[in-house]
Amino acid sequence: MKMGEQSYERGKLEIRLKALTPIWTGGVQGINDCLRETGIAGSLRWWYEAIVRGLGGTACDPCKHIHELYGKSLQQYKEALRQGNNWWQALDTAGLCDACKIFGTTGWKRQFQFKIRDETRLLWEPPPDALNVRPPDRTRGWFMSPGRVERVVLQFTGKNEVLGQLASLFLFVEKWGTLGAKPQLGYGVFQVENREAVKSRATKWTQKDNGLPGGEDNCPDLRRFGFFRFRFRPERQNWWSWLPALERLLGRTDTARVLKKAAEEGMVPVSPVLKNEWRFNYWKGPFRIERWLFGTSLGKENRVRSKIGASWAYKNGDEWEVRGWVWFPEQDKEKRLIPGEYHQQIWEAVRDVDLWCAALKVKKGELQTWPDVELWRKWQPDEVLSFLEGRQ
Ligand SMILES: [Zn+2]
Repeated sequence: MKMGEQSYERGKLEIRLKALTPIWTGGVQGINDCLRETGIAGSLRWWYEAIVRGLGGTACDPCKHIHELYGKSLQQYKEALRQGNNWWQALDTAGLCDACKIFGTTGWKRQFQFKIRDETRLLWEPPPDALNVRPPDRTRGWFMSPGRVERVVLQFTGKNEVLGQLASLFLFVEKWGTLGAKPQLGYGVFQVENREAVKSRATKWTQKDNGLPGGEDNCPDLRRFGFFRFRFRPERQNWWSWLPALERLLGRTDTARVLKKAAEEGMVPVSPVLKNEWRFNYWKGPFRIERWLFGTSLGKENRVRSKIGASWAYKNGDEWEVRGWVWFPEQDKEKRLIPGEYHQQIWEAVRDVDLWCAALKVKKGELQTWPDVELWRKWQPDEVLSFLEGRQ
């Protein structure tokens, strides 16, 4: 079925999730007091845009307000409808990108609504407000807030074809993405509990041909991503207590209590440990590129988001798992080209199984990356498509 063919048939889609790592949707005074709709919708749009661009289509940067439906574009939309086009095609004529069509923009509302049945709770009740995970060679470390765990039910309503796309999006995000904020620190990994029902609603991804050849300047694009997953069976149940950055936290009653509790629930905040290895012990290059790729929290204005996200370690049956992604942007903020050798360094670091084992103090583990290549290169839309379909 092509988009737009069943324009007015509305339906429902229920997605039941269980958090595998805490979900963070922002909150008052640093405490994520409930799951927020904006935090969930924002992360869904971010991944949807990355997919659309990766498949060769266009998705605008929502901060730039490029696509709006009023004045001339609104006239074009109405005219296209009059000529018998469906809503999707009519919005094409009006110049809206696929992300704006579904997630909305000025003059065009979001094409789905949802209610949250929030059955989550904080991973731990403060104090402490956060765990300061600080590897021995760092002065500051990373602050990990509790976030929300357990179950949540999302009840979507909207046109069936839009819900079909959302179902596909959720299946992708479940496998490789994250929900909510702080993806770089590994929050928001989840499992879809009613996967079969969601699968039966999912529409197939298709390649698109209306995108810019090189992709949008600084926007996430799956063609410029790499994904990784490390699975291990630790010999000791408290394997994590051998990591110096976490061992430190066992020295205080309050931090020891919440760390042990988190580990008992199958969630261990190892993302800082890995990021520390990759950034400070492996990567070598100019500071401006380092900042752009690994991020910085220096002041709100200059804040740069890390282009690498690693999850917490979470329990998956008898095994533990850590997964994540690297986004290799072509240019930095000032549109200066980032030489491929720097991408390659990061790619080699995430593909280094010895580094994983040493960082997590485990004897062995199974490391998989997509793409499974030694030399990272940008992917073509058809390769992105087969990745989305699970063929790669
Ligand atoms: Zn747009």
